[in-house]
Amino acid sequence: MARKTLKEATAIIKSLVLQFGAEHSIPGIGPVISTMNLSALEEAFEFLGWPDMMPMPEMKCGVPNCFEWATCGTPCRDGYLRCCEKHFSEYSGRKRRLPKT
Ligand SMILES: [Zn+2]
Repeated sequence: MARKTLKEATAIIKSLVLQFGAEHSIPGIGPVISTMNLSALEEAFEFLGWPDMMPMPEMKCGVPNCFEWATCGTPCRDGYLRCCEKHFSEYSGRKRRLPKT
């Protein structure tokens, strides 16, 4: 097996951080991922150039003013909605529209 390139190793470290970092939701900010002060994660975050409590805006629930992690997805009247579990149960299988921002 060929040795991994730096680019491949970086992608692997990012994947590990996303899998094992702690997920938090901060009101007004949204999803962030932290090291929980675990030294291996701190080194990985440093390698990636990430601060502890790294914002993950692409993981935010698609419902306006919800700052939870999008862990589910469902079709809704405004298209496909990536959302948190709470909003999945509110929008899944219904013809409901997203609130205006
Ligand atoms: Zn939500």
